[in-house]
Amino acid sequence: MASQESTHIRVPTPKFRVAICGGGPGGLALAVTLLRAADRAAPVAIDIYEAAPELATVGAGISVWPRTRALLEELGVMEGLRGEIGAGHEGDGRERRSLGFTFRKSDQPQASKNFFELQVPTDPLLLHRSALLEALKRGLNVPSASTCTVHTSSRLVSYTSAESGGVTLHFTGGATAHADVLVGADGVRSAVRQTMFSSHSPPVQPRWTGVVAYRSLVRKEDLERLAKGHQAGKRAMVVNNNHNAQHLVTYPISRGEDINFVGFYTVPGAYESKASYPGKWVRDVPVEDVKACYEGWEDEVQAVTKCVKKATAWGIHVMDDVPRCVDGPVAILGDAMHAMETHFGAGGGQAMEDAYILGRILAHPRTALYSQSGKVDVGTALKVYERVRFRFASSLVEKTRVVGKLYEFANGWEPEPDLAWAKRWGEEVTNLWKWQWDIALGKDWLAAEKMLLDEAGRTLEARL
Ligand SMILES: Cc1cc2nc3c(=O)[nH]c(=O)nc-3n(C[C@H](O)[C@H](O)[C@H](O)COP(=O)(O)OP(=O)(O)OC[C@H]3O[C@@H](n4cnc5c(N)ncnc54)[C@H](O)[C@@H]3O)c2cc1C
Repeated sequence: MASQESTHIRVPTPKFRVAICGGGPGGLALAVTLLRAADRAAPVAIDIYEAAPELATVGAGISVWPRTRALLEELGVMEGLRGEIGAGHEGDGRERRSLGFTFRKSDQPQASKNFFELQVPTDPLLLHRSALLEALKRGLNVPSASTCTVHTSSRLVSYTSAESGGVTLHFTGGATAHADVLVGADGVRSAVRQTMFSSHSPPVQPRWTGVVAYRSLVRKEDLERLAKGHQAGKRAMVVNNNHNAQHLVTYPISRGEDINFVGFYTVPGAYESKASYPGKWVRDVPVEDVKACYEGWEDEVQAVTKCVKKATAWGIHVMDDVPRCVDGPVAILGDAMHAMETHFGAGGGQAMEDAYILGRILAHPRTALYSQSGKVDVGTALKVYERVRFRFASSLVEKTRVVGKLYEFANGWEPEPDLAWAKRWGEEVTNLWKWQWDIALGKDWLAAEKMLLDEAGRTLEARL
């Protein structure tokens, strides 16, 4: 491996070795959970294999909503996020007193008004991605009975079953490594998933949604100079249009210094015809392309696009056909399993939720390498993870698409000038968003633990 950073303390022999492929939000959250939840008597050895030369991320924003925020609290990650936007307000988890997104129709030259505010029980965390990644990385250094080694510049190509049990990991350049459990947290183009379904027909692969997202960071001071007090610097906004399937999302990040800019347009018919995305999935684009996309929109939008200094275009792909997320001692999580469109701001959150449930299951005292009296083997433990997470997280892929269409007034939601229409539209959006706070992640963990204990109980019955 090209580089290794490690955290070692004297510990009992690990019960098994977990290889995590990918050091994004999902992979790091899994390592942090395994370290935090470690069983002193039977810790685990963790290896993170990351393709990039360091654990880093793209320069863009990320929003985190109540369900996921709860796990960041529990893992101690929130400590590293103090001072970030939204970090100061926890709410009581029920009363919806915080402002989520504000919606406004903007595809006309005349100034319009905000027409709906999405209320949520806890302020969303509005962050630069590097802030989240740094906070997760800090979580790798907590004192723990388990150990974690990070291997950067280690791109997994495939894996094979090892004769001695577990899996052999194969990396570019020919290096190999062994693990008892392999978790693919390697994103939408996952090599772990590709190996898992290499002989599956039809092929399991990312599908282009027809959506392209322009991403940029706007300096708040630039916007203030142009339009003092502009609301994009203060609140999360979705500005919609009634034609051409476009919308624009902005929210302040980096403690208020930058504004995260994501502008969407859709290529008609591309999703339905299962077209391949032309060219590189992420590429630099001239700022003129971004400005042209919003030509003729109200001044409020023009002010923001004028401040875009550089931009990238992302072909948005989803994973909507993954048949399962576990195969023997191998599991996938996050975008590898359920890459979704971005309209709930939840893909990263769901990756971390997968990681949290999976990490707690693997670290649990009732999980062992092999089945024993009162303990389940890792294969059974991974199946519990699949039962709790697979259907729930995968269902969000379609739900996200539906809410995105609503933002663009599709499917019969033609805007009407009366308040009653805005109320109905807002209720529809709120109903679609509700899962972000209605169903607590803690309940999912309790369900997972019960399944695990039931399985462990069966090992006792089998021995009677
Ligand atoms: C425009 C846009 C806006 C978004 N906004 C939000 C938001 O507000 N909130 C939110 O929660 N989500 C958001 N998302 C989604 C979010 O970015 C992803 O869902 C999230 O990054 C997935 O995390 P992950 O850990 O599964 O994968 P990734 O973040 O893709 O991380 C995968 C890691 O694996 C590494 N890797 C890849 N292949 C290999 C290999 N073969 N071997 C070793 N390492 C490998 C990569 O280098 C990377 O570090 C947005 C996405 C987009 C495109």
